[in-house]
Amino acid sequence: MNKKSPSILLIYTGGTIGMVNDPHKGTLVPINFSHISDQVPELKKFGFNISSITLEPVIDSSNVDPDKWVIMAGLIEQHYEQHDGFVILHGTDTMAYSASALSFMLENLEKPVIFTGSQLPIGVLRTDGKENLITAIEIAAESNNGIPATPEVCIYFDKKLMRGNRTTKSSAEQFEAFISPNYPCLAEAGLHIKYNRNFIRYPGLRTNLKVNKKLNTDIAVLKLFPGISQKFLKSVINTEGLRALIIETFGSGNAPTYGWFLDELAGFIKRGGIILNVTQCHGGAVEMGLYETSRELLNAGVTSGLDITSEAAVTKMMYLLGKYDDRNKIIEKLGKSLAGEISTNV
Ligand code: ASP
Repeated sequence: MNKKSPSILLIYTGGTIGMVNDPHKGTLVPINFSHISDQVPELKKFGFNISSITLEPVIDSSNVDPDKWVIMAGLIEQHYEQHDGFVILHGTDTMAYSASALSFMLENLEKPVIFTGSQLPIGVLRTDGKENLITAIEIAAESNNGIPATPEVCIYFDKKLMRGNRTTKSSAEQFEAFISPNYPCLAEAGLHIKYNRNFIRYPGLRTNLKVNKKLNTDIAVLKLFPGISQKFLKSVINTEGLRALIIETFGSGNAPTYGWFLDELAGFIKRGGIILNVTQCHGGAVEMGLYETSRELLNAGVTSGLDITSEAAVTKMMYLLGKYDDRNKIIEKLGKSLAGEISTNV
């Protein structure tokens, strides 16, 4: 094999792409990587050095957790120097969470880490898995004058390359399973793969990859709904050891103005808790103070999540709580773009 050909590491974690029907259970279950490579003989035609690692046991991505993110990030760290790019095969259900988590964990990343998977198993005739896998590898290997085309954690799915921490799974039916509502696609694959270089994050000064493996899960996510009761809110807020609460609010960050509701939130903040306001809408940003129903949150000490997705909010919070003890530092970092996850100019 030509020494100069790109070297790509595939990390197989499971998901529909590698699933088959288990005749005993009658459900789809993930199986080993050789099943995928047998179905995609095209992998041998690339002329790249493609190696693979399977994260055992392979899982349906609903079973992913921070320990698995630590393993994925650790594999990238371990194989970073020897490879030009990484492709992570992952189930779609929690892919946006995993891609977001890795975007914070892999600090100073200078190489592509491309998540992909499929809506139909690779062995099925109409599978979307082949195209997703082949193009993800192509993107992971693409470089210009030695500079990788997309040195970011991304999701490639159904012809679109998106910044991972901007994505959300939007369909359990369409091949177009993901959207990036608040940030443009980084590339689109038609006859050619067209890169939107103005929107890709290129690293500045060369620095070494730093892998943050400490994640703290003392958080909760609360989706507001009309009729939410005080006893429910109380039980969430009084969860033992809770350090941060992400509230999914209405519209541009609005919430009820009932006295008991605001008092519960303000009480949690006074006791040292952090509350981050994220919108339930799939597009747009939190703008606290636009309406009275959000100004009250601001007065209670709630922090704006701006245009962050819930997936990025959850994983950013776990990362920040793992990294810093100082509450003010965490709040300061929540307002900053650490890996391109928020637009700070809105
Ligand atoms: N349940 C599957 C998973 O997330 C769905 C998929 O891969 O599309 O692992």
